[in-house]
Amino acid sequence: MTDSAQERAESRGDAEPHVRIVTGHVVTPLRGSPDGILDLERGAVALRDGRILAVGEAEEVLDRYPGASVDRQGERLLVPGFVDCHVHFPQMTMIASPGLQLLEWLENYTFPAEARFADRAHCEEVAEFFADQLVAHGVTTACVYATVHPGSAEALFRSALARDLRVITGKVCMDRNAPEHLLDTPERAYEQSLELLEAWHGRGRLEYAVTPRFAPTSSPRQLELLGRLTAEHPDVVVQTHLAENRAECDWVGELFPEDRDYTAVYERHGLVRRRSVFGHAIHLSDGELERLGAAQASLAHCPTSNLFLGSGHFELQRARRHRGLRVGLGSDVGGGTSLSPLASLNEAYKVSRMVGEPVDAFQALRLATLDGAEALGLEDRVGSLEAGKDADLVVLDPRSSPVLRHRAGYAGSTAELLFALMMLGDDRSVHATYVSGRRSVPEGREGCGP
Ligand SMILES: [Zn+2]
Repeated sequence: MTDSAQERAESRGDAEPHVRIVTGHVVTPLRGSPDGILDLERGAVALRDGRILAVGEAEEVLDRYPGASVDRQGERLLVPGFVDCHVHFPQMTMIASPGLQLLEWLENYTFPAEARFADRAHCEEVAEFFADQLVAHGVTTACVYATVHPGSAEALFRSALARDLRVITGKVCMDRNAPEHLLDTPERAYEQSLELLEAWHGRGRLEYAVTPRFAPTSSPRQLELLGRLTAEHPDVVVQTHLAENRAECDWVGELFPEDRDYTAVYERHGLVRRRSVFGHAIHLSDGELERLGAAQASLAHCPTSNLFLGSGHFELQRARRHRGLRVGLGSDVGGGTSLSPLASLNEAYKVSRMVGEPVDAFQALRLATLDGAEALGLEDRVGSLEAGKDADLVVLDPRSSPVLRHRAGYAGSTAELLFALMMLGDDRSVHATYVSGRRSVPEGREGCGP
C-alpha cells in the first residue's frame, strides 16, 4: 500500500523530484561521535528522490520547502530504518522450532526446511513474504543468508529490488557435513557465487555476500576458493558464523587441527577483513577479538537466537573495547524468534544485564541502526537520519498496545519512552516504514490518527 499517485508522478520524470516532509518526534544517532544523538520532539525529515534532504525543527523544515507534501505523524517517533545484520530468509518456514541446540537443530529443522528451496516457486513465495515482513518490521537494510540453491538468492534479490530494499545476500556454500542434496562442491560454490555476484551486485541497492555457512560445512578447498573470490571482489560482503556454540567450537578444533583457534580458520583462507560479518561470535578469546578488530571485521549480535538455542551470552561491551571491531544487531531468524529489531533489543538488553554491562536506550537504538550500518560498511548510506543518506525511516507508535500506551503516558524523557518501546513493542509498533522515500503502511494500520 504505497502512495502510488506520487510514485507515478515521480516515475514520469517530467517534473522536479517532489519533496515530502514527515513530521514527528525525530530520534536518531549521529555519525562522528559514539554517543551523538539528535532528539527533536517537534522535528521533521524532508525526503526527495530516495534521499534525505534535510532534518531539523519542523517549523524550519516546513518553511524551507513550501510546496512539499506533508505526512504529519504527531507524537510518533521517527527513527532510521533498522539494519538486520544476520538473518536467514529460508528459515521463515521453521521459525520457533523448539528443544534442540545448534548442531541438532540444524539437522532436524533447518536442513529439511532448506531442501524445499530446490523448487523455484517455493523460493519466490517465501522471498516475497520475507521482503514484505522486513518492511512491516521497519527493517530497510538486511544482510541475509539464502540456501545452497542459487534460485533462492535470485528470488530474494528480485523481491528486494521490487521494494527497493537494501538487501545483501548470497547463496550458502556447503560441501560437507550436511545432507547430500544440500551440498555443492568447491568449484560449483565458486562458479555459482560468481555468477550471482555478476548478475546482481550493485543493481539498485542490492549487494552480493560470499556466504560459506560456517567452517564445519566447508572443506578447506571450498574456503580457499571462496577466499579467492573475495580477493577478486574486495568490495563484497563476506558472511558466515563464528563461535556460536561450544560443541561447534570443539568440532571446528577437530576438523581444522592445524589452526590455533576458530578465527584462524577463516583468517588462513582470506575471509577476515573489512565487511566480513561474523554471526554470533560468543565464545571467543580476547586474542581472537583483537585480531578481528585489527582486520576491521564485524560481528552480528543475535540475542533472541542465542537465548532460544541456549548458545550463550554475547559480551557486547567487551567486544566494543577491541579497537576496530564493529558490532551490529541480527535477528538470526529462524534461530531467532522475531524479525522485530525492537524484540531483539529487548533480549539484547537482558543479555547485557546478565553479563554485567547493561546498554541504555540510545546505545540500543544505535545498535539496531548506525552500528549495523557500520558493521556492513554502509555508514555513508544508511543508519541515521542525516542529509544525503537514503530515505529510509520508521514511524514508531508508542501507543500501539494498551500496556505500551499506558506506560508511554508516564514516560518523563525520550530515553524512557524509547526504552519502553524496546521492552514492550514489536512489529505492531511500526506505524509506517519509508523505504527509499516510498511510504509503506503495514496491513490494518492505515487510518489510525496521529
Ligand atoms: Zn545464522
